Amino acid sequence: MIILKIGGSILTNKDSKMSEVNPTSLKRIASEIKASMDASPKQLIIVHGAGSFGHPPAKKHKIGEEFDESEYPQKRLGFCEIQNEVKKLNMYICEAFIKEGIPVIAVPASGFITASNKRITSGNLDLFKNYLQKGFVPVIYGDVVLDEELEFCVISGDQLIQYLAKNLNPDQVVLGTDVDGVYDKNPKTHDDAMFFDKFTSLDDLDTFEGTTNVDVTGGMVGKIKELLYLADLGIESKIINAEVEDNIFKVLENKDVKGTIISRGN
Ligand code: ADP
Repeated sequence: MIILKIGGSILTNKDSKMSEVNPTSLKRIASEIKASMDASPKQLIIVHGAGSFGHPPAKKHKIGEEFDESEYPQKRLGFCEIQNEVKKLNMYICEAFIKEGIPVIAVPASGFITASNKRITSGNLDLFKNYLQKGFVPVIYGDVVLDEELEFCVISGDQLIQYLAKNLNPDQVVLGTDVDGVYDKNPKTHDDAMFFDKFTSLDDLDTFEGTTNVDVTGGMVGKIKELLYLADLGIESKIINAEVEDNIFKVLENKDVKGTIISRGN
């Protein structure tokens, strides 16, 4: 079983204030996944980020922050708006994948996951197992969920990766993003950033820049924290550049791809 995350940075124009899909990347990634499924049978779960669809409305409605009782109706409506936006992105993605011949089935987190203080506390994954057994490719994405402490919160695709991997014990966990992997500082703003083949601790980071764009869920640092948590459980993961053609195909086929392995070992 492989859990593959495709970052919102690849699928959408995340710097944009508008919800925009990147149709060229989407089609290319769909065809790479299909080619790999044709090359060798595999159980695959796809996780995607919310990108420019989820982050601006989540920021606007300050979902995940404490609020007064009187604001409840407005917050609730904001929750609905975000859920609907990320659902739209998911619809575009699933449409492109189905066109390519990949049997994707959307399983939105807001439909079955709950959290406490922004961390997932429950979510029964039996349905995932059933879909996988029947040859489907379940797709889950960054979404809003009910929170026991805060009423509402946003759950990132990266936290979902962590939750799924912890509970499903996959053979491979791969995250595709728009950089080659982890550097000691943001490679988009620092030319001298140093690349890590293997990343074992947050102490290796020189600066704590979250991401290049608006991201209420933590950007690269948030991603690494989730993956280090998995590493603590003995589950390795790999961050690769999904903008480089054929990288997704190659990684799914277990071929050598530049990237950062997140692990606690040396
Ligand atoms: P995605 O949407 O693909 O999940 P994000 O946009 O949240 O990804 O995070 C990826 C971004 O994080 C990169 O585009 C990069 O600019 C930024 N970033 C910040 N710090 C680092 C770092 N130390 N190493 C790599 N990327 C970093």
